[in-house]
Amino acid sequence: MTYFDHAATTPIHPQVIETMTNLMPTLFGNPSSIHQYGRAASEKLMAARQVIAESLAVQPHEIIFNGGGTEGDNTALISTALARKEQGRHIITTQIEHPAILQTAAFLEQQGFEFTYLSVDQSGMIDLEAFKQALREDTILVSVMFANNETGNLMPIKEIGAILQTHPAYFHTDAVQAFGKVPIHPYELGIDLLSVSAHKINGPKGTGFLFKRDGLQLPALLHGGEQEEKRRAGTENLISICGMATAVTINNEESQQAHTIKYQKFADTVKAILDEEEVTYHLNGNQQAKMPHILNLAFPGVDNQMILMHMDLKGFAISTGSACTAGNVDPSHVLIAMYGENSPYIRESIRISFGLGNTQEEVETFAHQLSASVKRLQKKAFTNNKDSQS
Ligand code: PLP
Repeated sequence: MTYFDHAATTPIHPQVIETMTNLMPTLFGNPSSIHQYGRAASEKLMAARQVIAESLAVQPHEIIFNGGGTEGDNTALISTALARKEQGRHIITTQIEHPAILQTAAFLEQQGFEFTYLSVDQSGMIDLEAFKQALREDTILVSVMFANNETGNLMPIKEIGAILQTHPAYFHTDAVQAFGKVPIHPYELGIDLLSVSAHKINGPKGTGFLFKRDGLQLPALLHGGEQEEKRRAGTENLISICGMATAVTINNEESQQAHTIKYQKFADTVKAILDEEEVTYHLNGNQQAKMPHILNLAFPGVDNQMILMHMDLKGFAISTGSACTAGNVDPSHVLIAMYGENSPYIRESIRISFGLGNTQEEVETFAHQLSASVKRLQKKAFTNNKDSQS
């Protein structure tokens, strides 16, 4: 099998496995304990925090370890809502966020908060003028994802941060897909809160962190022990956090450039082979402002589930969108936001997402196999269509 679904999750990098398995036998102390076992654990935790803080050019105490992207997103929204409800009840987000944001928004709506969901154009980008118009005196939070998990589009985070310099609303970004792929410096971008998940960067699942800018007053979501300076109770997932720090190092800014060049070549290869094979396709997303490791394509006349099954049988794992909705095949809310619910692209689109372990040879073989499957399916769809018309 060849894995091309890295936007859903990534395999754990061998160096991360090494870090974790080396530490596991001895590093079992509770970082809150005072004895030597505890101190050894606490030192490792501090070192991991330092590595992660440096990757964002922030202070170590601004990193709150947690259970991953969903927890970071929930905390950013719910804690801000609780902390700032006296200042206002209006929150701005977008229609293309991950369910970790959209479902939390739905929950907060039930608690009396009001949301504006910014729409996107056909390329999947929000409009900054519409954002400015949506901002109100009682807006307490703006949550816009850094990069979209289905198209790879990079949102205008710097511009939003600049606009919010003169507005008291907090600025949260779900950076789960972008962290480790593009440089992110929250202070330069005006970001107050940022969620990250380790399993998207070749780290372990169920671990991540929330960056919270110094001075921001937010109540904890989880109550209990005094871990993470009372901002997130619960004994830290130490071994995974150490693994995450190694994953962060592997995906540091220097290597990001090389990875980007590699993924761009992969994406260009797929497109070139599809062109060569004269396959009809449509590129989803903003080709001028996206991360190259995600390639989202529609094949007119072909059901995306059929393509997915064909490719699976041929040994390639791809996706039709977000995997986080546990095996369901609901139409993508991102593509609906882009094209409207009646667009055929919604049922014709697939997502290919490259990762560190993929090779040029794998990509070429895949693209040829994909072309063959799509051509066969397109021909079948065309014949069926003609039969039904005659
Ligand atoms: N946000 C985005 C953009 C994602 O792609 C995902 C996972 O797919 C999440 C949040 C959820 O992260 P986690 O799986 O760590 O809870």
